[in-house]
Amino acid sequence: MNDTITPQDKEQLKSAVSNEVIIEMETVNKWYGDFHVLKDINLVVHEGERIVICGPSGSGKSTLIRCLNHLEEHQEGNIIVDGITLDKNLKNIDHIRTEVGMVFQNFNLFPHLSILDNLTLGPILTRKMPRLEAEAEAMKYLERVKIPEQADKFPGQLSGGQQQRVAIARSLCMNPKIMLFDEPTSALDPEMIKEVLDVMIELADTGMTMIVVTHEMAFAETVADRVIFMDKGEIVEENEPKKFFNDPQHERTKLFLSQIL
Ligand code: ADP
Ligand code: MG
Repeated sequence: MNDTITPQDKEQLKSAVSNEVIIEMETVNKWYGDFHVLKDINLVVHEGERIVICGPSGSGKSTLIRCLNHLEEHQEGNIIVDGITLDKNLKNIDHIRTEVGMVFQNFNLFPHLSILDNLTLGPILTRKMPRLEAEAEAMKYLERVKIPEQADKFPGQLSGGQQQRVAIARSLCMNPKIMLFDEPTSALDPEMIKEVLDVMIELADTGMTMIVVTHEMAFAETVADRVIFMDKGEIVEENEPKKFFNDPQHERTKLFLSQIL
């Protein structure tokens, strides 16, 4: 994987981070019933920043990123995304969902729609884009993820890696400012992981703000500006990748890294 990217590329990637804050979580708490799933989460993300979140299963990683596009509601604290405060009174959920794209572990494509229709549905319905324009845009993104020839097929006819690239292209069709990825490669056979990570690296290179839940540590080392480690609903530790991997501070982080590296 590291051969896909040179140290110079990495410097270029680094410089894409701006001073503009695009996501802010202030002392966010969330419960599922009695279960305290997010505990005093504080997180500031700048435009163009690429963040990797890792941590044991059940630590709250998915819940955290799902709160950012309001797939889940938090009960305490503030979440502000691109200047919009996410709360119960949020009027324009569609607006947030177009700003914040999300890619899931299991692709979540519509099985009964062709690849092209999967990509054009959102722009036509929520952006009121004319079909021909939406299709032209969709083809542009399918070329970007290197599978334009699959446009007329159905999701079930594609490999997992291809389906996940379609899912990324589908999100990009909405022209989001932020992309969230929830373990995008963990349902894939090993030989397909790289083709998806390569697409994500290229996306990072465009300056997209990205939050990626993953245990692909080579990806984190190459692409992330910051790695966040969560355990039991808390952010235990965060640091730039080099320091995070070479000199973890907390016992829980050390234990986790010893199990996955
Ligand atoms: P992770 O992504 O780190 O594995 P999750 O955010 O999915 O963690 O889940 C954190 C904890 O919250 C887990 O113990 C999980 O069982 C629980 N949980 C997740 N979603 C729900 C839900 N909708 N209702 C109740 N409990 C949930
Ligand atoms: Mg999860």
